[in-house]
Amino acid sequence: MIDYEYLKPASLDEVFDLMKKHGSKAELVAGGTDVMVFIKQGNHSPEVLISLRGLTDLCYIQKNSAYHIGALATHRMLEQSQLVKEELTALQQGSSQVGSIQVRNMGTLGGNICNAAPSADTAAPLLVLDAVAVLQSPEGQRRVPIEEFFIGPSETVKKNDEVLVEIEIPSEMGRFKTAYCKHARRQAMTLPIIGVSVGILLEKDVIADARIALTVAAPTPIRVRQAEDFLKGKPFEEGVLKEAGEIASSPECCMPRDSLRCEGWYREEMVRILIPRVAMAAVEE
Ligand SMILES: Cc1cc2nc3c(=O)[nH]c(=O)nc-3n(C[C@H](O)[C@H](O)[C@H](O)COP(=O)(O)OP(=O)(O)OC[C@H]3O[C@@H](n4cnc5c(N)ncnc54)[C@H](O)[C@@H]3O)c2cc1C
Repeated sequence: MIDYEYLKPASLDEVFDLMKKHGSKAELVAGGTDVMVFIKQGNHSPEVLISLRGLTDLCYIQKNSAYHIGALATHRMLEQSQLVKEELTALQQGSSQVGSIQVRNMGTLGGNICNAAPSADTAAPLLVLDAVAVLQSPEGQRRVPIEEFFIGPSETVKKNDEVLVEIEIPSEMGRFKTAYCKHARRQAMTLPIIGVSVGILLEKDVIADARIALTVAAPTPIRVRQAEDFLKGKPFEEGVLKEAGEIASSPECCMPRDSLRCEGWYREEMVRILIPRVAMAAVEE
């Protein structure tokens, strides 16, 4: 491990002052479950770690005119929240599959999103839920739809002087039935081979609106709008859902790569198979 100075400011203003003072020598840390691994592996070597853990007012899950989740809410909080389980089910399912309980106790929603791994377990649920990332800098706040937040593996639109303070989800998303499936080689402590999240808004037995998002199917988490558009107005039937899976797994929609964990063709095949299953699971839930 390299030596670094660890600073734990108590307010966002102090965080901004420290970020300005230490510039590129500093790195923000929330739960540290990504950052500390990178430091230990020698991939990151910050001279200063600015901890966000003193910002306890960024650790909340609330619902009023929208759903508001503080960037420091941990995966364990999301996993255990009855509100998230009942109304934002896919997100509860994503967070509850991150690592182990120990990792979920430390790891935050904000860290998962800012780390921007193509396999992040909350990314597809947040895309399905039309989430908005609220970024704050000394100049003020800006809001970025989560679909525009990821620009490449480990790359986001967040600027160096910005802190992610909140994830906001429009209240109407609570009317959707949503689910997330992490398809992996084993049940525990592994990254997904493919992640599939589906949201369905049913009116009687007709699909009034739909959302489909994938992780590890492209360099960033993606929405699959062709398949969503196909579903809208159709009856909620197995044949229709299977057709949506065919569309989503076509080369026009997803471009999964070969990797050590699995080859691209298998990922495509799992997208095709999982979309109808996840849609069914969402509605049955
Ligand atoms: C054993 C193990 C298993 C894991 N399994 C999974 C898994 O199954 N699925 C999965 O998705 N992930 C997994 N992870 C990765 C990790 O736990 C998650 O990505 C977690 O959500 C990161 O959150 P954190 O608070 O620990 O982030 P940190 O490590 O503190 O930070 C991650 C990055 O985000 C930045 N950052 C954090 N918070 C903010 C903020 N509010 N504003 C601006 N920048 C910020 C940091 O500067 C850093 O670049 C695993 C990690 C470990 C060690």
